[in-house]
Amino acid sequence: MENKILIFGHKNPDTDTICSSMVKQILNEKDGKTNTQAVRLGNVNKETQYVLDYLKIEAPELIEGVKEGQEVILIDHNEFSQSADGIEKAKIIGVIDHHRIANFQTTEPLYYTARPYGCTSTILFKDFKQKGIEIEKTEAILMASAIISDTLLLKSPTTTSHDKEAGAFEIMEVIGKEESLARIKKGIEMLKAGTDLDDFSEEELINLDAKKFEENGVKCVIAQVNTVSIEDVLKRKEKLEEAINNEIEKNNLNLFVFAITDILNSNSQIIALGNRTDIIEKSYKLEDNMAFLEGVVSRKKQILPMVEKNI
Ligand code: MN
Ligand code: MN
Repeated sequence: MENKILIFGHKNPDTDTICSSMVKQILNEKDGKTNTQAVRLGNVNKETQYVLDYLKIEAPELIEGVKEGQEVILIDHNEFSQSADGIEKAKIIGVIDHHRIANFQTTEPLYYTARPYGCTSTILFKDFKQKGIEIEKTEAILMASAIISDTLLLKSPTTTSHDKEAGAFEIMEVIGKEESLARIKKGIEMLKAGTDLDDFSEEELINLDAKKFEENGVKCVIAQVNTVSIEDVLKRKEKLEEAINNEIEKNNLNLFVFAITDILNSNSQIIALGNRTDIIEKSYKLEDNMAFLEGVVSRKKQILPMVEKNI
């Protein structure tokens, strides 16, 4: 692994981060580039594990951090706060991402692909097409799964026509019409597998998919879990709040937003704590530290911009 260029997505990996890292590796191999290796920065979540089990393939190797001078390609993120420990001293030779660019800087030129699509895999899909490289079943299913996950079955407001047409539709052509229908059902199963939250402690729940931001000196975390029953998750509200307050104290945070997203009805309930909840209250009235955000499912396109605008 020492001499290889490492390909990885963000911490608290989601399905796009894991699948797109693996797809980039497959794309490189098919393109004759053998000096890269896909790795990951954290545990594989249940949703992603569902995909890997379906394909009977192993997750990329886990790494703790990167050493000085290590060559890396960042997938599905660019902000250093979401990247590997030691990233400041690594050599970033490429980025493939669909998020805002923030707190990012390099000393040398690099390949940077940024597209405002709903999923990193949609960008990779276009890379396959552009290079004229055949998409086979494994990468097709990895990409379809990432797209289904990031766009919540193409329903999230982050979904673009590229995800719909160029992405999911043509990927389905690779998989085959019949199997792709089965795949949509599988997609729902996959999303549901990710909503099985019972095994997690409150501390784990608030860190499952947490992203850190710093804006004008305001230290903020926005965490998100998917569920088919907000009510179910709220049964643990008291303990969740305790875990959130511990996290705030431990990391000197000003604001922690925990979004519980109902993937079936496309709404979110948030719990907001910290000394800057006024940021949220500029848009939503908090009652009992909570607000119901009708039609809100996307952290990137809906929750984060609201927080940023109010800071
Ligand atoms: Mn992601
Ligand atoms: Mn993504």
